[in-house]
Amino acid sequence: MFCCDLLTEAIDRGAFYYGAKNRINDGRIVNEIETEYFIRAASSRGYDYLGVNYCPFCGRALSLGLWQAEKKK
Ligand SMILES: [Zn+2]
Repeated sequence: MFCCDLLTEAIDRGAFYYGAKNRINDGRIVNEIETEYFIRAASSRGYDYLGVNYCPFCGRALSLGLWQAEKKK
Protein backbone atom coordinates (compact mmCIF):
# COMPACT_ATOMS: atom_id res chain seq x y z
CA MET A 1 0.00 0.00 0.00
CA PHE A 2 2.84 2.41 0.84
CA CYS A 3 5.99 3.12 -1.12
CA CYS A 4 8.29 1.02 1.09
CA ASP A 5 8.38 -1.23 4.16
CA LEU A 6 10.17 1.39 6.23
CA LEU A 7 7.32 3.85 5.79
CA THR A 8 4.75 1.16 6.56
CA GLU A 9 6.65 0.37 9.75
CA ALA A 10 6.88 4.04 10.76
CA ILE A 11 3.10 4.35 10.35
CA ASP A 12 2.60 1.18 12.42
CA ARG A 13 4.76 2.65 15.18
CA GLY A 14 2.85 5.93 15.15
CA ALA A 15 5.91 7.95 14.17
CA PHE A 16 4.30 8.75 10.86
CA TYR A 17 0.71 9.62 10.07
CA TYR A 18 -1.16 8.94 6.87
CA GLY A 19 -4.62 10.40 6.38
CA ALA A 20 -6.64 13.49 5.62
CA LYS A 21 -5.46 16.75 7.16
CA ASN A 22 -8.87 17.53 8.61
CA ARG A 23 -8.93 14.26 10.53
CA ILE A 24 -5.99 15.27 12.69
CA ASN A 25 -7.51 16.14 16.05
CA ASP A 26 -4.79 15.34 18.57
CA GLY A 27 -2.26 17.98 17.61
CA ARG A 28 -1.40 20.77 15.25
CA ILE A 29 -0.06 20.85 11.72
CA VAL A 30 3.20 22.71 11.65
CA ASN A 31 3.64 23.57 7.99
CA GLU A 32 1.51 24.30 4.94
CA ILE A 33 2.41 21.39 2.68
CA GLU A 34 -0.59 19.93 0.83
CA THR A 35 -0.21 16.28 1.73
CA GLU A 36 -1.70 13.30 3.56
CA TYR A 37 1.69 12.24 4.93
CA PHE A 38 2.98 13.68 8.18
CA ILE A 39 5.85 13.07 10.56
CA ARG A 40 4.31 12.85 14.02
CA ALA A 41 6.25 14.26 16.95
CA ALA A 42 5.20 14.54 20.58
CA SER A 43 4.96 18.14 21.77
CA SER A 44 3.85 19.85 24.95
CA ARG A 45 0.24 19.74 23.75
CA GLY A 46 -0.49 16.51 21.93
CA TYR A 47 1.46 16.15 18.73
CA ASP A 48 3.12 18.22 16.07
CA TYR A 49 2.44 17.07 12.52
CA LEU A 50 5.05 17.93 9.94
CA GLY A 51 3.76 17.52 6.43
CA VAL A 52 6.18 15.96 3.96
CA ASN A 53 6.33 15.88 0.17
CA TYR A 54 8.68 12.91 -0.07
CA CYS A 55 9.16 9.65 1.74
CA PRO A 56 12.07 10.17 4.18
CA PHE A 57 13.22 6.58 3.58
CA CYS A 58 13.11 5.88 -0.13
CA GLY A 59 12.67 9.41 -1.49
CA ARG A 60 9.55 8.78 -3.51
CA ALA A 61 7.05 11.61 -4.04
CA LEU A 62 4.13 11.22 -1.64
CA SER A 63 2.04 14.35 -1.40
CA LEU A 64 -1.08 15.24 -3.31
CA GLY A 65 0.17 18.78 -3.92
CA LEU A 66 3.30 17.47 -5.58
CA TRP A 67 1.35 15.13 -7.86
CA GLN A 68 -0.98 17.96 -8.85
CA ALA A 69 1.96 20.23 -9.60
CA GLU A 70 3.44 17.43 -11.69
CA LYS A 71 0.23 17.03 -13.72
CA LYS A 72 0.13 20.75 -14.60
CA LYS A 73 3.50 20.54 -16.38
ZN1 LIG B 1 9.23 5.05 0.96
